[in-house]
Amino acid sequence: MGSDGWVSGLVDAFPKETVAIFNLAKAGRIDEALVIYRWFLPLLELDINAFLVQNIKLAEVATGLGTEYVRAPRLPLQGAERERVLAIIAEAYKVYKNCTGKEKAAFLNAIADEILAIGDPLLDLYCAESGLPRGRAEGERGRTIFQLRSFADMLIEGSWLEATLDTAIPDRQPLPKEDLRKMLVPIGPIVVFGSSNFPFAFSTAGGDTASALAAGCPVIVKSHSMHIGTGEMVASAVIKAAQKTNMPEGVFSNLIGSGVVVGGALVSHPLVKGVGFTGSIKGGRALYDLASQRPEPIPVFAEMGSINPVVVLPKALENESQKWATVYAGSITMGTGQFCTNPGLLLGIKGEDLTRFISELSTEIEKIAPSCMLHPSIHADFNQGKELLKSQSGVHTVAEYKGEIAPNFASQTLLTVDGKTFLENPTLSHEVFGPFSIIVLCDDEAQLTSIIDQLAGQLTATILAEGTEIDNYTAVIAALQNRVGRIIFNGVPTGVEVCPSMIHGGPYPASSDSRFTAVGLDAVKRWVRPFSYQNWPNALLPIELQDENPLGILRLVNNKQTYSNIEKCQEKPSFV
Ligand code: NAP
Repeated sequence: MGSDGWVSGLVDAFPKETVAIFNLAKAGRIDEALVIYRWFLPLLELDINAFLVQNIKLAEVATGLGTEYVRAPRLPLQGAERERVLAIIAEAYKVYKNCTGKEKAAFLNAIADEILAIGDPLLDLYCAESGLPRGRAEGERGRTIFQLRSFADMLIEGSWLEATLDTAIPDRQPLPKEDLRKMLVPIGPIVVFGSSNFPFAFSTAGGDTASALAAGCPVIVKSHSMHIGTGEMVASAVIKAAQKTNMPEGVFSNLIGSGVVVGGALVSHPLVKGVGFTGSIKGGRALYDLASQRPEPIPVFAEMGSINPVVVLPKALENESQKWATVYAGSITMGTGQFCTNPGLLLGIKGEDLTRFISELSTEIEKIAPSCMLHPSIHADFNQGKELLKSQSGVHTVAEYKGEIAPNFASQTLLTVDGKTFLENPTLSHEVFGPFSIIVLCDDEAQLTSIIDQLAGQLTATILAEGTEIDNYTAVIAALQNRVGRIIFNGVPTGVEVCPSMIHGGPYPASSDSRFTAVGLDAVKRWVRPFSYQNWPNALLPIELQDENPLGILRLVNNKQTYSNIEKCQEKPSFV
């Protein structure tokens, strides 16, 4: 008809491929155009369908170019139709797992660069949506960048894959030994639920996303509704980075919508192979149950509630009660108490020193100016939880900010209760998310230990002690180690260092699987599985397992750690 090409429909979601086919066809490079066309055809067929507008919109979400919003009388795709379209898009995902470590590292570094390139508008929107101050926005962005770059470095270094080679011994008696080679491989597309309390570091391009992308898993984010705009800006940075580093379409998507509807549909989808979540016990547990009831259950790594017990030993207070009162007033109110490591429970043994400490902590807490909470619903939950605990029999309110409180600001609160009452009333160990803590006055070490034994799983425990005082409390320490993922000596639980030895997880409900961490390089282990090749031809093995060790990575070859190739290892086994 004299037309040079076409400009609308499903191609909108894949402009790069569309232009590439057009240019290749015009240049007569038909074979190359056909390769793209064959990949593209199932997607293009979504255009010849009664739901073409919804299909196009959904494909645009998957490639990060648009939203699912459609005007009435149209409705977003639901049910079987939605699943069919997602399956077609997912086909395009398969390429990502075959990207090399170097390619994935370039992608992660490019995400960091693109986030930084947005500059002030991103920080401004973060503050406007979350109510958090500018310094926090800058600090959290720095941590997010650091996480992305740390995973990039890990990919280039290569030993995280745990490449393990056991070469054949054909003349072994009584049977020959086979050649076996093992490494970690990605489990498949991961759904990440952005958290409310870390709009950068535990959201769109936060630790869950960075670790899953590092593992080789495509990521679909269910953006947290409290900071959709921040999420969209960061998502646009990720998409730009993907395009600049030639990542396959669909490697990253950002979806907006209700957790129950959109999140539930994603977790139930057969092509999704894992879930990362930070939030409430109710939400995390609902997703965990949903995932385990699928015909093919999948892992859910949910980080949920924690009240982070702090044991205050008597001698720690003899000389330093004022110091600890100031430090703990800061920790309890830091970030308006909206940290998963907030110290929500302080345990001490009755006596003059503890009484003085309570009075000093109360004074320090009331001095601090209240701050804004993340969202009216979190604020409402805080007030409701606080009032519930205040109303329990035997509970005393020893500090509560009394001045004028602006809307959505939290009045920090400190309660006390005796050990026996705490042991008898499970409501008193419920998390109150915000600037809140309850001090339990125990009769003796035995009661203190019983209380710890009865606690649900926690992210952290802290012990405040003077010198060798701790030596006399071995039962308390053993009880704490049994309930938590990280134990702290003479410090505060708030402030989570991002480094390889960090454990941010713990027995349920602190996390749904205490064998893993959500922070630090080991977070990648949540998204991989070990895979073995037996007698596999060298040329067909992944590059990391080939005889020549072309990447020069650290491997375990015949039980020896080495950077060498197989030939050299067999000549002269060496430790490096
Ligand atoms: P949340 O209510 O658990 O929501 C987190 C995410 O999960 C949201 O995207 C939400 O979707 C989704 N979701 C919730 N319930 C779901 C379900 N049944 N099925 C599918 N998806 C579901 O947590 P939040 O909004 O971040 O904060 C609420 C409370 O959680 C806080 O007051 C606090 O008590 C607790 N919290 C604890 C921590 C911690 O680290 N310990 C951190 C953050 C929050 P929607 O967008 O539809 O809501």
